[in-house]
Amino acid sequence: MHEIGIANSILDAVRSEAARYPQARPRRISVRIGELAAIDPDALAFCFTALTRDTGLESLKLVIERCPRRHRCPACCAEFDVAGYDFRCPQCGAENTEFLSGDQLELASMEVEEDEPGTA
Ligand SMILES: [Zn+2]
Repeated sequence: MHEIGIANSILDAVRSEAARYPQARPRRISVRIGELAAIDPDALAFCFTALTRDTGLESLKLVIERCPRRHRCPACCAEFDVAGYDFRCPQCGAENTEFLSGDQLELASMEVEEDEPGTA
């Protein structure tokens, strides 16, 4: 299960980001996962929950956005989501379209909450 390593690197990113804002508490982290990235979102969410337990980050919510495979047509420059294994351009019918994205794993955004002065 390599999702545990991925959950770990997400948490590392959260921690280094949080270190820049000592007054803020991370609330929500969004990651984008391409459908070709071979990552099981359920397993990732499970590992994430397990890793944040008893760390002070229990309230941190992981949001996973799935990204479909996208191709680009060199003939008409259309960009489109690939459904199944049909790589033909939906606009002009060209068959030799180029892989654009769909194997990414990236942090999309992090939401933080400012602590009220005096309550921390
Ligand atoms: Zn085309």
